[in-house]
Amino acid sequence: MSFRTTCPYCGVGCGVIATPDGSGGATIVGDPDHPANKGRLCSKGAALGQTLGLEARLLAPQVGGHAADWDSALGLVADRFRDALAQHGPDSVAFYLSGQMLTEDYYVANKLIKGFMGSANVDTNSRLCMASSVAGHIRAFGADTVPGTYEDLDEADLVVLVGSNLAWCHPVLYQRLVAARARRGTRVVVIDPRRTASCDIADLHLALQPGSDAALFNALLVALADRGATDQEYVARHVSGYREALAAARASDPSLTGLAPAMISTFLDWFIATERVVTIYSQGINQSSSGTDKVGAILNCHLASGRIGRPGMGPFSVTGQPNAMGGREVGGLATTLACHLDIANPAHRSAVQAFWNSPAMPAAPGLKAVQMFDAVARGQIRALWIIHTNPAVSMPAADAVAAAIKGCDFVVVSDVTRTDTTRLADVVLPATAWGEKSGTVTNSDRTISRQRAFLPAPGQARDDWRMLAEVAARMGWGTAFGWQDAAQVFKEYARLSGLAGDLGRDFDISGLAGADYDTLPPTRWPVSARKQGGRFFGQGGFFTADQRARLLPVTPRLPVAATSPRYPFRLNTGRVRDQWHTMTRTALAPRLNQHLAEPFLELHPEDAADLGLAPATLARVTSPLGEAILRVAITDRVARGQVFAPIHWTGETAPTGRVDALVAPVVDPVSGQPESKASVVAIAPL
Ligand code: SF4
Repeated sequence: MSFRTTCPYCGVGCGVIATPDGSGGATIVGDPDHPANKGRLCSKGAALGQTLGLEARLLAPQVGGHAADWDSALGLVADRFRDALAQHGPDSVAFYLSGQMLTEDYYVANKLIKGFMGSANVDTNSRLCMASSVAGHIRAFGADTVPGTYEDLDEADLVVLVGSNLAWCHPVLYQRLVAARARRGTRVVVIDPRRTASCDIADLHLALQPGSDAALFNALLVALADRGATDQEYVARHVSGYREALAAARASDPSLTGLAPAMISTFLDWFIATERVVTIYSQGINQSSSGTDKVGAILNCHLASGRIGRPGMGPFSVTGQPNAMGGREVGGLATTLACHLDIANPAHRSAVQAFWNSPAMPAAPGLKAVQMFDAVARGQIRALWIIHTNPAVSMPAADAVAAAIKGCDFVVVSDVTRTDTTRLADVVLPATAWGEKSGTVTNSDRTISRQRAFLPAPGQARDDWRMLAEVAARMGWGTAFGWQDAAQVFKEYARLSGLAGDLGRDFDISGLAGADYDTLPPTRWPVSARKQGGRFFGQGGFFTADQRARLLPVTPRLPVAATSPRYPFRLNTGRVRDQWHTMTRTALAPRLNQHLAEPFLELHPEDAADLGLAPATLARVTSPLGEAILRVAITDRVARGQVFAPIHWTGETAPTGRVDALVAPVVDPVSGQPESKASVVAIAPL
């Protein structure tokens, strides 16, 4: 028997068909009927069958490092959260979640901490990934709406990749772009300081100075205006703030990009001459101290030119994780409520509170990820629940974060395998993994897909939503958390979204409340009597008070940390093709480990010569915050003075490749997203 499910890695959200082999494994093929991938898989998805073993799995609860039964472990979690709330109030508790969680798990976590514990201190590792896109969407559109669809990639004549190595980070979308290019000659522009694998198909590569993207898109807005290439009717009917945004764009200096004027002109000419333009952006835009403004500069150009919400055009934020979008939708960020409702809006709060029949509801946003771990370090957070993420490795200033977790009064971690973070926990709860649990995820183009269990839960592993509900019951809230299965959680969530639709929000899947959960096909939201799937904003209809999009004046800001004689290199971080996050799953697949076997540092040949570093030798990389030991890869893919290192390796790997120990916890003031691609470091031979 085969099962249709969804890949657990990136935000492309590919459908896979799993056929269990009867002895704990399964064969995996792409699902030809899934709209995201139509049968394609990348190397990671194709190797999923090699990752299903029980090596390193957590199979029983642990308390204080010793095996415990579920009842005592959950009882302790409930007691410690109850005590923290009673003695120190709702600001003393926090949940740190993950884009790896299923929507149902996310919904229950958000309901428990916001609606019942009364704290908005719930944030997610998606804060590190795409919070600037969320903030940018909300500022411009009035809601966190992705306007377009994957079909737009098939139908565009120009695709601009900004801060996105689509070839490695969203490989099946890249394959889709390659196919479209072969079919219709789609032009591709890559805007990235580093010459990535995506440049293999680029007609133009703009290797701009790190962090200068807003200056380039401001130049585009000026060119659109000066050459009569704005859509004046669209602007007049659907947009506000055009004059102010244009004035700010005129005041900014394109030379900040460091690009030759002729290169900039080519990009401007191509954008202006092409109606069907999709601009795909990702972590290179988002992970910045000015990420929200960079998103705004991109959205300004698409809104001013009316290139939005129609076939083959629009700005497109691609998400890193399999369910970053689902987490955004359920309100798994400290700055949002559920179903794209606004935590700062009293009407929204009271509607959700009435629906949940809950005793408490925070009236303001809670602590974003970096702030949250600062609060842990200060002792403000007394009880912390970390679910499916490894902040001791992946947060900026990872050494300080690990120390903060270790020093916290009470930490519970739910996860699938032992990690650097589970080793710091008071209670470790074994969770079911991909293939063992059931639920839904939402991909980058708003398509909700089912993940289906095709293997039994090993040992004592339990589903996340069930653990959370059992703690809620022990805290006295069993009635509101009394679901029998994930399908019941989803149906409640779908009903709540109908209420959001009634309040004028974009996210409404009330049409799925009565759907057959078991057989639910991939479905793009919204799904309601008002609207079914499709694109947003081709005819306006923004989610602001006056239904107009807001163009925002953007003044480019370069990275906060400046290089200096002591720290003369700018460190860019990112993913490699065949690994995922901190490698807890991908490292199990021998095939994936063959691509790039150990942590490395890309360094320009002239810099390597100056430093006396030969190829494949080891370098000590230091920042004001920490150190990593990395294998030198000499390449002109990076410019002089810039280096690149991957994020995946942990402190246990030799050489030590824990690069987030080097990254400063500098954040965007609006989104709270860290500047993970522009730290300053020193490099020396080991
Ligand atoms: Fe999985 Fe992403 Fe690869 Fe698709 S592109 S198979 S979702 S990792």
